[in-house]
Amino acid sequence: MHCPFCAAIDTKVIDSRLAAEGSQVRRRRQCTECGERFTTFEVMEVVMPRIIKNNGLREPYDYNKLRRSMALPLQKRPVSIDEIDTIVHRIEQRLRQTGEREVSSKVLGEIVMAELKEIDDVAYVRFASVYRDFQDIEAFKAELENFAPKVCHDDLQGKNHD
Ligand SMILES: [Zn+2]
Repeated sequence: MHCPFCAAIDTKVIDSRLAAEGSQVRRRRQCTECGERFTTFEVMEVVMPRIIKNNGLREPYDYNKLRRSMALPLQKRPVSIDEIDTIVHRIEQRLRQTGEREVSSKVLGEIVMAELKEIDDVAYVRFASVYRDFQDIEAFKAELENFAPKVCHDDLQGKNHD
């Protein structure tokens, strides 16, 4: 792998360890020319099920799209990028474990919600409010009451649909 700093051809691996619950190998490399260090990730190439959208159309599973839909509700929350990556990989595992060649976006949404609920209540509510497209504010409030003590009121202002 070429050095990203000086484009030298020869770099050496100085450290190698598993990341994202063992689904990635993270390698620390050092350029033999300029001495700069950088990190590479090695991931398994696996076939993911296609996603069936609500309108019945099929689309390929999209890692970046999933990652964005996780990162957005987690904005300004105490959850690290490493943790987000770990969750995304866990979701991919769960999708593969279904053993299905096609999975509905509804199933994917439920998996995402379950993962967000585990890690951050506010992010969960943010995602759920968009995903479930709450028909009325009462349904939204009912959802909130399950974990109201942990939810900061300021975080929820402006989320009302009325
Ligand atoms: Zn270099």
